[in-house]
Amino acid sequence: MNKIKYDAVVVGGRIGGSTASLFASKNGLDVLMIEKNQEIGTPVQCAEATSSSTFKTLEMEPSSKYVCNEIKGADIYAPDGTHGHLEGGYAEGFILERKLFDKQLAIESAKAGTDIMVKTTVKDLIRRNGQICGVVAKHMGHTIEVEADLVIAADGIESRISKMAGLKTHQSPQSLCSCAQYEMVGVECDPHYLQFYFGEKIAPGGYVWIFPKGDGIANVGVGVRSDTETAYSFLKKFTSTMDATPVELNMGGVPVYGPVKKTYTDSLMVVGDAAGQVEPFTGGGIHVTAQCARIAGEVAAEAIEKENTSGNFLKKYEKLWQKEVGKDLKQSLKYRKIMDQLTDKEMNIVAEFLIEQDLESISKMAVLGFVRDYPQFLKLLKDIL
Ligand SMILES: Cc1cc2nc3c(=O)[nH]c(=O)nc-3n(C[C@H](O)[C@H](O)[C@H](O)COP(=O)(O)OP(=O)(O)OC[C@H]3O[C@@H](n4cnc5c(N)ncnc54)[C@H](O)[C@@H]3O)c2cc1C
Repeated sequence: MNKIKYDAVVVGGRIGGSTASLFASKNGLDVLMIEKNQEIGTPVQCAEATSSSTFKTLEMEPSSKYVCNEIKGADIYAPDGTHGHLEGGYAEGFILERKLFDKQLAIESAKAGTDIMVKTTVKDLIRRNGQICGVVAKHMGHTIEVEADLVIAADGIESRISKMAGLKTHQSPQSLCSCAQYEMVGVECDPHYLQFYFGEKIAPGGYVWIFPKGDGIANVGVGVRSDTETAYSFLKKFTSTMDATPVELNMGGVPVYGPVKKTYTDSLMVVGDAAGQVEPFTGGGIHVTAQCARIAGEVAAEAIEKENTSGNFLKKYEKLWQKEVGKDLKQSLKYRKIMDQLTDKEMNIVAEFLIEQDLESISKMAVLGFVRDYPQFLKLLKDIL
């Protein structure tokens, strides 16, 4: 058995892991990041859309090395085809090539000093007198003990590490959106606008997306919460009438019921999907994970410098990420809960109303007028008014 020692060990090498490692290393820590897959960034489980805030958080440029397309807005379709168009604002952003982006982020982290092990799976936490002090990992049949003062769990939606540490990060099936996506060639769509389609028949509890990557290539995917039919089955139905062909199939789950209650304990912090740090309404997690994981990396550095990795100190991480994204995630969850209660007919009515509005600043007068005409929505809208 090999034995090694670091200030911090980060489990998981995608957006959460690389970001936490990058900022921990930049702030002077000795960091080891461990990724179970043989290549950082694959397989992709993402529709690859993100906002410019991600690059700001990561202090990276949206380079053509890993950005394949710029997005100027979005087209949104209600179940009856009622169509709203969003120009700029929240809908603006980029389509990443995540295979390249995630790898580049790991490269940045390595350049800042992070050591990385790929094709290595963390199997257990090491505890001494009940205190977490590292991880046990397996690499090509060999067992490795990594001693570390801090562990950062960035191991995604099925996070085992945070559960081993006693945190309640389990996501119930109802709080997960199951997704299936093809990257397709020959998709006819405007290359600079995202498309979203809603409706019980095509995507119960979620939506269908077409995110253009340019040159007739697009991510076409479906997210659903259904007990009876899989996301893949909905995807096959949606794409069956398209004159386009897949070159990749991705599947995965997205936590859409908000962050977990506690994201730290003695000597451990949990970030990204593992912590449910995803916008519940859209399912977007890249920008939120980047923000939270950066905070985790910075708090890790402070904890090591002050020789205090107690939960009492690490709660600073939760306070800071709550301050930065907590309010937005709560608001987004309210929208998700409202969406969950709407029938297709009601969605059509809401869509008719919304296309008349400036979505960035809907006036209370307009909403009151809507509720006067459709009093059945009063109870739902009370939550967001
Ligand atoms: C189909 C789909 C489409 C999406 N589309 C978008 C989108 O367009 N925009 C957006 O913002 N968000 C999107 N998301 C969400 C986004 O992809 C995630 O929020 C984000 O990738 C979370 O990053 P993460 O690093 O926390 O977790 P992950 O990306 O899940 O990374 C976890 C990593 O940990 C590794 N790992 C797990 N266990 C271990 C272990 N024991 N030892 C070592 N390594 C381990 C895994 O191999 C993996 O590489 C989408 C998600 C899905 C599923």
